[in-house]
Amino acid sequence: MAADDSQYGAIDIRVWDGVSDRGNCTVRWRGDRIEDVVPGGDERSPELSLIPGLVDTHVHLVGRANAVGNPRGDDTSVWPMLTTREEHVLHAAANAQRAMRHGVTTMRDLAADEVQVALSRVFDSSVLTGPRVRASGPVGMTAGHHDLFVPPAHPLRGPTADSPDECRKLVRTWAQKGLTGIKIFTSGGVLSARDNVHWRNHTEAEVEATVDEAHALGMRVAAHAHTPAGIQKALDAGVDSIEHATEMTEEQAEAIAAAGIAIGPTLLINDIIAGGRAPVGEESRAKAMRLVPSRDAGFRWAAKAGVRFVLATDASGYFLAFGDQMAETVRMAEVLELDAENALRAATATAGASLGLTDLAGRVTAGSYADFVVLEGRPWERIDELSTDRIRAVVCRGTVVAGELPVP
Ligand SMILES: [Zn+2]
Repeated sequence: MAADDSQYGAIDIRVWDGVSDRGNCTVRWRGDRIEDVVPGGDERSPELSLIPGLVDTHVHLVGRANAVGNPRGDDTSVWPMLTTREEHVLHAAANAQRAMRHGVTTMRDLAADEVQVALSRVFDSSVLTGPRVRASGPVGMTAGHHDLFVPPAHPLRGPTADSPDECRKLVRTWAQKGLTGIKIFTSGGVLSARDNVHWRNHTEAEVEATVDEAHALGMRVAAHAHTPAGIQKALDAGVDSIEHATEMTEEQAEAIAAAGIAIGPTLLINDIIAGGRAPVGEESRAKAMRLVPSRDAGFRWAAKAGVRFVLATDASGYFLAFGDQMAETVRMAEVLELDAENALRAATATAGASLGLTDLAGRVTAGSYADFVVLEGRPWERIDELSTDRIRAVVCRGTVVAGELPVP
């Protein structure tokens, strides 16, 4: 069903609006926007509350859509190389819709290309029912983290960039194709084959050229970085967010907090890989096991220093399901020692703002997206109540996409 301006809805319910508890309110929406949130109204279903749809700032929609719970078969790196682009698109659409039904109504794909742009457009125009998809295109060097997801002998390779000018050209190419952000890599990675998390990825000049060009074209830059050297390079170049940031030092945490740069901590995926809880190569597991032990204490310190953490799962449907975002948020509360309300903000208003969607995504307020979840409990008071088992209904773009709204 398409969301159009003639569609109108209203609900009387307890509201947490992405920032704070508003008490009982009447929430009214028209088309895909919230019209107003008016305090008062009857408390018809006191066990229920309404929160904004979650915002996951780090996903990879191209992954086998039936992989979780079905671990036999090709993994997250191999499957895309054995299947066609046409098949990728269909699985990516299924993954996005699955996340939406589990309460995630905005997501940013950090390895995007024309596939995610196409999905974003068909969802935005209601050709298919789907969440809001932001697409960030990778700018990475030959032998860098992104490049080594594809084995050297495989013929189907994404573009790489190996000089400041090539970096600028690749940013411009992604802008031309309709992508809205850029992903860079300033350290090696865990899952990519044959690289090392401590390898230098890019020179300073390449990173600076990429960030400068992206910002000139209105695109936000997310940097993949695990190591202190990689984090520093991203920080010095003025990126907008750092993904993983596993070995962030105390000095860097202070600088990141002062600059207001968002950190996507991707906790569960690294826990799963380090713990051997999903089939993964020994090389990847060894890399994660080296990174994870020192991570939690460093992140806790950073959170207390004022670093802005945001929901970022790195879900591809293989290690993490599209639908594990609520579990990741609960894990953020544990590891970062955030209270329930701050953990929920990290998954809603703060995450939306980090994507440049301030007061649109992750909020329920006049003028914001009509994207929200009705669930049993008060997750801003007790974070364990943020659970997909408790979802009664999900509304995306003003339309019920899962469950049913309570009968007035
Ligand atoms: Zn990722």
